[in-house]
Amino acid sequence: MALIVQKYGGTSVGSVERIQNVARRVAQYHREGHRVVVVVSAMSGETNRLVALTQALSENPDPREVDQVIATGEQVTIGLLAIALHEIGVPAKSFTGWQVPIHTDSAHTKARILSIEREAIERELDAGKVVIVAGFQGIDVEGDVTTLGRGGSDTTAVAVAAALQADECQIYTDVDGVYTTDPRIVPEARKLDCITFEEMLEMASMGSKVLQIRSVEFAGKYKVKLRVLSSFEEGGEGTLITVEEGQSMEQPIISGIAFNRDEAKVTLLGVPDKPGVAYQILGPIAEANIDVDMIVQNVGHDGTTDFSFTVSKNDLKKALGILEEVKRALGARAVEGDRSVCKVSIVGVGMRSHPGVAAKMFKVLADEGINIQMISTSEIKISVVIDEKYLELAVRALHKAFDLDAPQE
Ligand code: ADP
Ligand code: ASP
Ligand code: MG
Repeated sequence: MALIVQKYGGTSVGSVERIQNVARRVAQYHREGHRVVVVVSAMSGETNRLVALTQALSENPDPREVDQVIATGEQVTIGLLAIALHEIGVPAKSFTGWQVPIHTDSAHTKARILSIEREAIERELDAGKVVIVAGFQGIDVEGDVTTLGRGGSDTTAVAVAAALQADECQIYTDVDGVYTTDPRIVPEARKLDCITFEEMLEMASMGSKVLQIRSVEFAGKYKVKLRVLSSFEEGGEGTLITVEEGQSMEQPIISGIAFNRDEAKVTLLGVPDKPGVAYQILGPIAEANIDVDMIVQNVGHDGTTDFSFTVSKNDLKKALGILEEVKRALGARAVEGDRSVCKVSIVGVGMRSHPGVAAKMFKVLADEGINIQMISTSEIKISVVIDEKYLELAVRALHKAFDLDAPQE
């Protein structure tokens, strides 16, 4: 008998039939005698719809009120799943984030989980029930509803698994595991039997939305056994996220390729090349709560230099507004914004022991005639910013060049 936390994403609960399908799977685990906690997302498309409603009323809606609205999607699915389970004779009880409660900080729309109270969940499990917890939401010290950022139900599931010391956390989604890259872009992508936490963290941070970054952080920190599986297929092993390296025989140099379309580039031209400039540029950006990703400062000439960085496309307008002021204060020449860029990253722990990986990546892109605008690296990752129109070409070419394509049947 095990304690299992299962999470079902939006597509997996996207219709009444799919909710019934989830109920059948949950019932099977319950019948086998396992203690089961289920975390669910809103029905697919619902969170987008709710976000759009808030934006239809205001360009800059109060984040507290946004959370009131967008947290409702998950309240619907927990209740529906409980009803579906009751219909097939399985005792079940649903909880919103505040009923558990899941305590978070007060950073509305991107709150962090601080602690989870176990009593209510454990009481219902002890009574033989399946416990259903709303993903994506919590409550702050003011008693206000908070949400955990897009894709946050993954983090709810892992945090609940950590709090309950569950034997396994299973993330059921619309693909049957973690692939070498998004199988929707590269049909030759190969499913991985396992991937290390470190690699999964880089993949998630670089844009692979199969798992929210914080869920991977949590799982690594609290040693949660984490598996990604298909909610539409029976019997698959999915992908296990592991701590150990080199479980597979092949030891590939690159384990996966991630990409992110949500990048925009900002450049300040003709900035005086003197101490304190980077701070003068990025200080006001940070104050405005804009996350900065890659940063490049060119080598100075004639006492001036160009300074570029990337932000999320949503933040571009705000960043450009701030930089107009900075430009005047610094006496810089011009500010430019470019939303037609994207980021492509290759990830793999094997990079550590193999020099020349970056050179190979750049050659592959050069052979395709793709210009690299920015580069950043970590020990197990190399990222480039390129023109968005070359995204698919770049990902496919790199996937092939690093031998990630699945063997032909
Ligand atoms: P859910 O609604 O279940 O949370 P998401 O849409 O958030 O599902 O995540 C699953 C999607 O992630 C897949 O449909 C796939 O298109 C995408 N994805 C991106 N990168 C990868 C990858 N490396 N492996 C598997 N899926 C990936
Ligand atoms: N429903 C939320 C979203 O669409 C949370 C999740 O699905 O994980 O982002
Ligand atoms: Mg998701």
